[in-house]
Amino acid sequence: MSGVLVVMEQRDGNWNRMSFEALTAGQQLAAKLGVECSAIVMGDGVGSLAVEVSSKKLAKIIAIEHTLLKAYTSDAYVAALDQAVKQAAPAYVIFPHTYQVRDFAPALATRFRSVLISDVIAMHDGPVFVRQLLQGKLNADYRHTAAGPCFVSIQAGTFRGDAVEAGTAAVETFAPTLDAAQIRNKPGELFRESAQTVDLSAAPVIVSVGRGIGEQENIPLVEELAKALGAELAASRPICDNGWLPMERQVGSSGQTVSPKLYLAVGISGAIQHLVGMKGSKTVIAINKDENAPIFEVADYGVVGDLFVIVPALTKAVLAARG
Ligand code: FAD
Repeated sequence: MSGVLVVMEQRDGNWNRMSFEALTAGQQLAAKLGVECSAIVMGDGVGSLAVEVSSKKLAKIIAIEHTLLKAYTSDAYVAALDQAVKQAAPAYVIFPHTYQVRDFAPALATRFRSVLISDVIAMHDGPVFVRQLLQGKLNADYRHTAAGPCFVSIQAGTFRGDAVEAGTAAVETFAPTLDAAQIRNKPGELFRESAQTVDLSAAPVIVSVGRGIGEQENIPLVEELAKALGAELAASRPICDNGWLPMERQVGSSGQTVSPKLYLAVGISGAIQHLVGMKGSKTVIAINKDENAPIFEVADYGVVGDLFVIVPALTKAVLAARG
């Protein structure tokens, strides 16, 4: 067994953007190991998506095609990937840690008498995969020693989707043997997410506010800083849960994933559910009165102090600098 195989995710012909983060992870792992990286895209009529990925540095892109893969079901995905992985015989199978992957990948790994090393936040030589335990209080190292492929899913924002190396890849089609009778799941109507009026994922600068702001009446303080910087305003979950800002401005595991050039976190502690949504930011500045706040671990610049003193002074300085 050798090589790295990345399983990409699409729905109705649209990529899940975390697929490209997984692709970067796969390419970097393959480079470390000195082996080839390939990718899989699966569904019904995914040829054009496969061609799109053929401009990436991959040995090949395998398009798994079957009418029973049109709508997602865990049974069909496990059965199809079981066959494709056996044929490709990779040493590592990499997934983006999406909701869909959480649903089917452990069952797939079990077919290979293995487990899924899930929600990985870093890879070191070895290779060693790092995942968090106890709500992010501990980092644990995992190394795969058993025979058979090692299955790994990558946490959102761990690798940059725009860092996938370009190249050329051959496109191969794989037709799995699937039988409708073996699929126990009956896909229902898709859950419709509320229409988002703010696309934070495209914002180059974000000022994000957390519970440190204290009360809804204080939000304009941070709003003014965002305005001065020409930034989008975002928030941690408690702010949106309280209705102080609309839900569509929430960043994190149950909100939006953002990767701006600058993320300014104001009065945000840095809980893991928040970090997964913003750690892909190029530069992070944190303002927090607690010097031990976990946000400082991901911050490039940290200001330990009272936001009610620092934010108005910063707004004033930005406005003065702009003239
Ligand atoms: P806190 O953790 O209360 O932190 C407030 C911070 O403000 C503290 O660090 C404090 O030192 C600082 N502070 C207080 N006063 C001042 C001051 N005057 N000046 C400067 N600093 C000050 N959270 C998200 O953000 N996004 C999600 O998508 C999300 N999804 C979740 C999903 C699940 C299933 C669960 C269980 C939780 C989720 N959470 C999410 C919640 C998450 O666990 C945290 O509770 C939340 O992120 C904390 O928000 P916070 O940092 O604003 O508040």
